[in-house]
Amino acid sequence: MSNRGTLAGAAARLGTSLAVAVLAAATFGAGALARPPADPNAQTPGRAEQKCRLHGGQVSTSRQHAFETLFARDGIRVFLYSADLNPMPVGRATGSVRFEFKDGSTTEVPLLPRKPLPGEPAVYYCSMHPQHAQAQPGVCPECGMDLIPQWSLAGKADLSRATRGEMKAVITVTGMPGGEPAATFTESYAGGRASAPETPRAPAAPKPKQGVSRGGGGGGAG
Ligand SMILES: [Zn+2]
Repeated sequence: MSNRGTLAGAAARLGTSLAVAVLAAATFGAGALARPPADPNAQTPGRAEQKCRLHGGQVSTSRQHAFETLFARDGIRVFLYSADLNPMPVGRATGSVRFEFKDGSTTEVPLLPRKPLPGEPAVYYCSMHPQHAQAQPGVCPECGMDLIPQWSLAGKADLSRATRGEMKAVITVTGMPGGEPAATFTESYAGGRASAPETPRAPAAPKPKQGVSRGGGGGGAG
């Protein structure tokens, strides 16, 4: 009898330690999965929790892309990223945005490529190594190429009245390269903060990198 009891106890202890091992494995797995914000199996675009580190805009993800949206008085800007949040060129992408105002009115405008204006806060990245992105011009630490400014898709609209109430923007981007040429997602904008910046606010430089801040004046390479 006591033997059976001991065996049962051993079995129970074994079961417990198995459970702990499984739990530990599950916890580890979840931690590892938590890092990339994009869910490759998602059927519908999801919302990333965090704001984009580059422009501070709202981020939505689709199966293969991420989109950062900035609201401004004169419309919106949409920046394209790969699923792992590296800047992507606008390329042939275009699209449209439908603004849905709280009073029930809507406005639909095209999304067209827009280059950052001189002096405007912008993100610069390497076309070959887009993980190297920063808030000022420079050269890629891997290949030495000049970093290029990140264009956006801009939808022009007078959004000043949106500061008096909530607004939604249903955004469709088409013409992207790869297996997901189009995506639609919705961002909401709770006006209130009267003066949305007309241009993206200065992005926080990820990390100052060596040799990047040699300003102007070409040449220099022996
Ligand atoms: Zn590079």
